[in-house]
Amino acid sequence: MEHYLKFWGTRGSCPVSGPQYSHFGGNTSCLEVRYGEDLAIIDAGTGILPLGNQLMEEGVRRIHLFFSHMHWDHLIGFPFFKPLYCPDVEIRIHAPQGKGRSPKELFEQLFAEEFFPVKLADLPARISFHPMETVRVGNLTVECHLAHHVYTTYCFKITTPRETIGYASDNEVEAHSRGGLVGFFRESDLLIHEMQYTEEEHLGRRGWGHSSAKEVMPFIAEIGPKRWIVTHHDPCHTDADLRRLSEETRLKTRCPVEWIYDGAVIELKG
Ligand SMILES: [Zn+2]
Ligand SMILES: [Zn+2]
Repeated sequence: MEHYLKFWGTRGSCPVSGPQYSHFGGNTSCLEVRYGEDLAIIDAGTGILPLGNQLMEEGVRRIHLFFSHMHWDHLIGFPFFKPLYCPDVEIRIHAPQGKGRSPKELFEQLFAEEFFPVKLADLPARISFHPMETVRVGNLTVECHLAHHVYTTYCFKITTPRETIGYASDNEVEAHSRGGLVGFFRESDLLIHEMQYTEEEHLGRRGWGHSSAKEVMPFIAEIGPKRWIVTHHDPCHTDADLRRLSEETRLKTRCPVEWIYDGAVIELKG
């Protein structure tokens, strides 16, 4: 299969493991978008480890890596991404600005010697940093839009010659910010959007940057994608919890919806 999305990590907040997570998996956010030779990776949670191994086996030499934001669950896998240790690999990083610090400065901190044995400057790969703006990766166009989350966080729209894919892993749907996002995602064939909390859980976690069915379902209905994929599962939710949530949601929406799991592949139109 030459054109596909692969979900390498579908867990939010913190990686988990154990038999109660065996179906949905425990790796944190990482999505591979592959369109022939063109490759874009979104987020570098622990899911990027097995992806890195595959890219090395394939001999991929040019990588565009987009960070939605700088929370741990989206970058904790980055220091362990094998292509970083390959001198003939070029990695273009697209990441948001920090508070008075550039993305490069933030990554230097991630590799500070108190945290990790290798410095950013000593990594063999050719790494460069780029601002969040519309980027063309061969046949793919990646656009970004601010999400409603805790600090500067982006969601993405990836356009192939045949389809449009929306991605919002961390977004608390709110009245004041939803209008812009509805417009941004309007043409999506496939919309990947979180629904991390149950309504009960959300009550005590307002402002934590995640949504429950009460806010997400009308938002999805307004956008009207052909298919809705739910990712960024709460680490407290076991397979049984996620299956129950999935079934409840399916009964309440007209949009075909699927709770996605680590390793899932969705074929794109070539
Ligand atoms: Zn997250
Ligand atoms: Zn976050």
